Amino acid sequence: MIPYSRQSISKKDISSVTKVLKSNFLTKGPLVREFEKKIAKTFSSKYVISSNSGSSSLHLACLAIGIKKGDIVWTVPITYAASANCALNCGAKIDFVDICDQTFNISIIDLKKKLKIAKKKNNLPKAIIPVHLGGQPYEQKEVWKLSKKYNFKIIEDASHAIGSKHYGESVGSCKWSDITVFSFHPVKIITTGEGGASLTNNKMYYEKMLQFRENGIIFDKKRLIKKSKYAGYYEQVSTGYNYRMNELSAALGISQLKKLKKFINKRNQIAKKYIDELKNFPIQFQKIEKYNLSSYHIMIVKFNINKLKLNYKQIFNKFRKNRIFVNLHYSALHLNPYFRSLGFKKKQFLNSEDYSKSSLSVPNYYDLKKSDFNKVIKIIKSII
Ligand SMILES: *Cc1c(COP(=O)(O)O)cnc(C)c1O
Repeated sequence: MIPYSRQSISKKDISSVTKVLKSNFLTKGPLVREFEKKIAKTFSSKYVISSNSGSSSLHLACLAIGIKKGDIVWTVPITYAASANCALNCGAKIDFVDICDQTFNISIIDLKKKLKIAKKKNNLPKAIIPVHLGGQPYEQKEVWKLSKKYNFKIIEDASHAIGSKHYGESVGSCKWSDITVFSFHPVKIITTGEGGASLTNNKMYYEKMLQFRENGIIFDKKRLIKKSKYAGYYEQVSTGYNYRMNELSAALGISQLKKLKKFINKRNQIAKKYIDELKNFPIQFQKIEKYNLSSYHIMIVKFNINKLKLNYKQIFNKFRKNRIFVNLHYSALHLNPYFRSLGFKKKQFLNSEDYSKSSLSVPNYYDLKKSDFNKVIKIIKSII
């Protein structure tokens, strides 16, 4: 089968993990710290907290900025459940901002309109969680400016955007946000099996995320209420979770991080080939702004579905029958049963709904074989 994305694991990756198995620490050892330091350096942020998943890291980010019951958090409908769950799990209410029909990222026009109305109604969001869909950075400067005007925090869901750049700045530098979150799930740009990281330049957020990751326990001598009498003395100062990354994952992450540039280049090459091959066909690709470098985590093709003989389901089946596991990223979140039960309805976010009915992600990953790529192209052409 040909998946839409998958990990690329080298012999070096494997030996770095097996080495950990023979060492003293499978968790709480030196490699997690080393991985965090390397992430901080690579993406130019001051602080990094790794975790056991991107979802956990998003939750830690919400906890750090103090999202709680009664707060409102906005994200986009075209995203994974975790972008909303992180706030819901803190007791907050979720609302959505539609996507732009060209970039498929948060629409700045819609965001501005919605903020104006929210200000009048006195229900402004405490935080906004924009998503770098497919690895293309959203309009970060615009959202940052609005965050100053309307006083909200920004958590970037950069699960797709490891290695992406915006005006030459690495996503993760938090130049235009409070916290940035990566995911290291195997389909993402680099992997740790499962894993995530939150990046920030804010020391208080860093300390909070560390504390919530460790069941509300602090070890830092400077922060202890009682001054420590013995090495290893600790205090629990809040509730929390065990969201730690383990040493096996960190070892894999360190090894994978070395190949980041290679992975991004290859994904960009493949994307370019798709666009070249299909440029004369009625297919819409994600518009990548010239000041952006996309990691191309997802290669999105949007069909002009009303003009085709096949409907969306039939298109899907055609790929699947040929053992090509295309996927939809994502089915508009607000129309999922859970959000319907909260009162969200059809026709609330038109661009997102249109996207959900006509787009899919085609294979793009480092080890994609030329013959497999050609097979995918052939099927897309035959559909049209
Ligand atoms: C992958 C992903 C996450 C986090 O997923 P985990 O599997 O928990 O690492 C969050 N948001 C988006 C948009 C994602 O694609």
